[in-house]
Amino acid sequence: MSFNSKVVIVTGSSSGIGAAIALKFTAENAKVVIVGRNEKKLKDITAKCEQLGSKPLVIVADVSKGHEAKRIIDDTVKKFGKIDVLINNAGIGGGTSILHDKAMDVFDRIIATNLRASVYLTHLAAKHLIETKGNIVNISSVASKSVISDEGFGYATSKAGLDHFSRCAALELASKGVRVNVINPGPVKSDIYENAGATPEREAAIWDHMKKATPLHRITEPGEIADLALFLASDKAVGITGSTFVSDNGYLLGGYNILKKNY
Ligand code: NAD
Repeated sequence: MSFNSKVVIVTGSSSGIGAAIALKFTAENAKVVIVGRNEKKLKDITAKCEQLGSKPLVIVADVSKGHEAKRIIDDTVKKFGKIDVLINNAGIGGGTSILHDKAMDVFDRIIATNLRASVYLTHLAAKHLIETKGNIVNISSVASKSVISDEGFGYATSKAGLDHFSRCAALELASKGVRVNVINPGPVKSDIYENAGATPEREAAIWDHMKKATPLHRITEPGEIADLALFLASDKAVGITGSTFVSDNGYLLGGYNILKKNY
């Protein structure tokens, strides 16, 4: 799968899934644009990309702020003259009760990052992707397909919205030669809970719970999601658009709710 001279934007690439995607595309000779808010972590990923043979374009930006999202597209086109692939990966977790005083603040913050930013970046990138017959991969979650947390309405709604937006964009852009697809990961080892403010103890407890909740009894490594993203962005997936791909160690099978057959 060669991405030789393809220009690939990966949002939220300072850690976790986004970092793994940026590294895989770099290894495939793409011109990678890494985007995040944490300059130190972006420097670490830059060094890893350089070890693989090329320096990424680094854009420090908050995707939830309109003018910063616009800068991501403008700076990329200024530097490389085109965009071939947009990976909308930046996302935040977090939950709250619908009864909580601050419920709407939490909801607005999650929607702004997980949904609105992906819609806006698609809007801004679309005309460039039409030029290159490029494609988009949106990183959603199994939370879009099943209600998996009792106080996760904001996150789940943002990801369900992202799935359906992706189908809408896929239909409209298909006639222009642009594909749009979605990956729905289950639990993936990343900084997501740390970034949501969990203590190391709480984080360890969450991973332990998640592992037990998957029929395969494992947590996905970020590189596994990156491999799927690479496939969907490549010409091998030329006939795939508007589709969602679950990679969750069987989490959605719901086996953890099923009684063991010992009766
Ligand atoms: P992570 O916290 O390690 O990475 C998220 C990245 O997005 C970070 O680099 C963070 O700085 C960046 N980011 C967040 N808000 C941003 C903003 N406003 N502007 C710019 N960058 C921003 O977590 P991750 O697990 O790698 O998450 C990547 C994506 O995968 C997210 O969309 C998340 O919802 C999704 N996901 C993760 C899991 C999981 O279990 N880790 C499961 C399903 C879906």
